Amino acid sequence: MEQTIAQNGMLVVLYVIASVLFILSLGGLSNPESSRRGNWFGIIGMAIAVGVTFFHPQVTAQSYGVLLAMIVLGGAIGSIVAARIAMTAMPQLVAGFHSFVGLAAVLVGINSYMDSAGLMGAERVIHEMEVFLGVFIGAVTFTGSIVAFGKLQGLIRSKPLLLPGRHLLNIGMSLVSVYCGYRFFGVQDIMTQGLPALLAMTVIAFILGVHLVMSIGGADMPVVVSMLNSYSGWAAAATGFLLANDLLIITGALVGSSGAILSYIMCTAMNRSLLSVIFGGFGAEEGKAAPAGAQPAGEVVATTVDEVSNMLKEARQVIVVPGYGMAVARAQHPVKEISDKLRARDVKVRFAIHPVAGRLPGHMNVLLAEANVPYDIVMEMDEINPDFPETDVVLVIGANDIVNPGALEDPSSPIYGMPVLETWKAKTTIVLKRSMAAGYAGVDNPLFYKDNTRMLFGDAKKSVDAILAQLQ
Ligand code: NDP
Repeated sequence: MEQTIAQNGMLVVLYVIASVLFILSLGGLSNPESSRRGNWFGIIGMAIAVGVTFFHPQVTAQSYGVLLAMIVLGGAIGSIVAARIAMTAMPQLVAGFHSFVGLAAVLVGINSYMDSAGLMGAERVIHEMEVFLGVFIGAVTFTGSIVAFGKLQGLIRSKPLLLPGRHLLNIGMSLVSVYCGYRFFGVQDIMTQGLPALLAMTVIAFILGVHLVMSIGGADMPVVVSMLNSYSGWAAAATGFLLANDLLIITGALVGSSGAILSYIMCTAMNRSLLSVIFGGFGAEEGKAAPAGAQPAGEVVATTVDEVSNMLKEARQVIVVPGYGMAVARAQHPVKEISDKLRARDVKVRFAIHPVAGRLPGHMNVLLAEANVPYDIVMEMDEINPDFPETDVVLVIGANDIVNPGALEDPSSPIYGMPVLETWKAKTTIVLKRSMAAGYAGVDNPLFYKDNTRMLFGDAKKSVDAILAQLQ
């Protein structure tokens, strides 16, 4: 008895320490300069959280073997996956991880319900609510994240699936879930009455998760990724309630609320309404994709490494716009060296970051930090957009959707309304990419046909290496 009280006391203290470390970690991650420290806080907090499981009163000495085996196995798989994954595949990895959290919430919820025969009164009502909500959120997160994984990996087309009557379908599935709840709460026999209703709701929530994410267009995927992040947090919090684990509740709530805040920030940055993104495809019919083969009027002018180097040598102000292609090509290091060379010649060089550049929130900031680009020359879109008219040369490195003037000028464009980096207002914009292929949203880009745009075709790493050699 005394031992259990001491164990519980130690558990609470260690849980509080781990929770504080997680909060410090989130605080650290909000700024590139403190992000390494933030990561360490998170790692130490998680090590405490996992280690402390051994002291949980419900974990007996007999289960140490299984627990240890699972920690070693899970840790080994996680380490191998994290070490092998390319930086560009991070978003799909994150989506994959969210799906595990969702699945865990479903399994824990169903298991906990099947084990709840002895509960009575208010305790039972609360437990059933935790189970029902936890399983619902977990199931939507599980299948939604799998579809997001498929879309980000290119296994599923990024165009929205716009089924006729899709909003009615969503409402219908939500109502049937509510009806399942009606059949689930307070039944006499949990195995023959409650469980079938719970499982029926789980299947409907699985379908709802697939449909919600399938009906979201490519350009809105950043919001979906952060929304699923948020859902996975709430699913983890629900699991925490079921397992009476305070740390899981706190961690889940932290992830859930920070994911919700991030989704809001991304929506504001993209000029989208959060509700329309969550209920997939709302307003998607407003913008129609350009008919196949349609091309904006005008000609594309290709340029050469020599020409670009000369323009850079003569420029007084240069802005670099990194995009997903820079991440794919891993061109950030030579790009940073080019900026050093130009700055040494007294050229004013800055980097312009669009909130949804790349495939993860903050993707470009991470790459530039990795290449040691000074933070004071990395600008957010709102800060730098007014400066394009005074800029001599803009280097667009593997970016496409985030510099598409159609988002501002063409109401029929699927990305109409999304603020973009207005590079075409500079004297010359040089676009480094391999072909005329569209970006993630699958729309043609009128920027490429503007009079003051030059296309430097080829792999971004090879092109910037060649430009750097000319500047030496
Ligand atoms: P885009 O996907 O619009 O464009 C990237 C461009 O890079 C392509 O047009 C491609 O053209 C080019 N490219 C690819 N590989 C190379 C290479 N090796 N060398 C040179 N160029 C290359 O990227 P953006 O960053 O402009 O926009 C991000 C898009 O991703 C937005 O639509 C956003 O909504 C979406 N998204 C963003 C997420 C986020 O959280 N940031 C998450 C999910 C989606 P080519 O093939 O011709 O070389």
